[in-house]
Amino acid sequence: MANKRDYYEVLGVDRSADKDTLKKAYRKLAVKYHPDRNPGDKEAEEKFKEATEAYEVLCDDQKRPLYDQYGFAGLEGMGAGGGGYYHAAQDFSDIFGGGFGDIFESLFGGSFGGGSRSRRDSNTGATLRYDLNISFKEAVYGCKKDIRFRRHEACSACNGTGGAAGSSRKTCPTCQGMGQIRRNTGFFQMTQTCPTCGGKGTTIDKPCTSCHGTGLQEKDKVVTITINPGVDDGKRISIPHMGDAGTNGGEAGDLIIVLRVAQDKFFERDGDDLYCAVPISLSQAALGADITITTLDDRRITLKIPSGTPNGKILKIKEEGVPHGTSGKKGDLYFKVVVELPTKLTREQQRIMEEYAKLETATTSPSLIPLSQLR
Ligand SMILES: [Zn+2]
Ligand SMILES: [Zn+2]
Repeated sequence: MANKRDYYEVLGVDRSADKDTLKKAYRKLAVKYHPDRNPGDKEAEEKFKEATEAYEVLCDDQKRPLYDQYGFAGLEGMGAGGGGYYHAAQDFSDIFGGGFGDIFESLFGGSFGGGSRSRRDSNTGATLRYDLNISFKEAVYGCKKDIRFRRHEACSACNGTGGAAGSSRKTCPTCQGMGQIRRNTGFFQMTQTCPTCGGKGTTIDKPCTSCHGTGLQEKDKVVTITINPGVDDGKRISIPHMGDAGTNGGEAGDLIIVLRVAQDKFFERDGDDLYCAVPISLSQAALGADITITTLDDRRITLKIPSGTPNGKILKIKEEGVPHGTSGKKGDLYFKVVVELPTKLTREQQRIMEEYAKLETATTSPSLIPLSQLR
C-alpha cells in the first residue's frame, strides 16, 4: 500500500473546513465509493476506507488538532501504540450515532441505503492492525520478522457453524429472517446487519458451548513478514485475508501492518540519503587525512578529508546511502566534519602551538565576520 494521503486532500476540503463541510465532502465520497455500489472493486473499497478514516479524524475535536500539528505521527498514540493489534473497526469513533463498529460491519458486511439484501449471507471478518517496531537499520536494509497476533478463526468444536451437536436453526426474532434491520442515521437511511443473528436471519436453539454460537474462536497466529529495504516510518503493509475469519461464508478481513521505525544513535535519513557526523582533529583538518568509519551495515570505509577542511563542512560519499526499493539503486552518505579542538595540551604540544602562533597569518586586529559567511 502506498503512503497515506493527507486527510484534507482525501476529502478535498481546505484546512479550515468546518464540520458541515467535512460531512458534505465525506457523504459525497461515501456514496460514490461505497462497496455495495462498486462490488468487487478493491480500489473503491480502499477509497471508501480512506475517506472514512479521514472524516473520522477531522471530525474529532481531540484528533484534528493533533493531526494538524503533528500529522499522522500525532495520532499514533490513539491506536495500539508500540506493538500490538486491535480491531480496526474499533478505532473509529461514533460518526453516525451508533458505534462505528456497527456501521463498519453494516457497510462492508451488509448493505447500504436502498435496503438491498445482496450480502445477506456473507459477513466479512474484521481487518486487524499490527504496529510493528523495527530498528533504523532494519528499515534501511530490509528484514524478515515473525509477528504473533490473536485473530478469530473458525471454531474447531462446531466447524464454524455456531451450533452444538443436534441443534437446529429457527427464524431470528429480531429481524424476522431478513438478516438486517433499518436505521435512520441523519443523512442516510442505513440498513444494518441484525445484531441478534449477525445477518444470518436465523438463530440456533443450542449454541456451541465453545464459541457461544459465534462460530469463531480466538487463536494465536504467527506470520513471517518480509520488509523491503528502504521503508519509511508509518508505511503500511496489507496482507489480504490474514485478519479475522468471516462468518457465514464471508471472506476473512485483512491484516494491516504499520511499521514503526526507531531512531538510530549515529545515523539519520532523508529519503534515500544517510547523514552522520565524523570527528577529526585540528591537524587532520589543517593537513588532510584518511579516516576510517564503520557504516550502518558494519563495513569499514575510508573517508578522504582534504587539507584545509573547515569545521561543519559536509562531505558526500556516493551510493553509501539507503537502497532504493528493490531497484538496487542507492542514495548517498553525507557526513558532517566536526573539528575537535584540543582542550588540554601536553607541554610539548604547548611549545609547538606557541611556535605555530608566531607564524599564524591571521590578522591581529580582527573586524567582524559577515553573518552570511557562516551559513
Ligand atoms: Zn436477525
Ligand atoms: Zn463453536
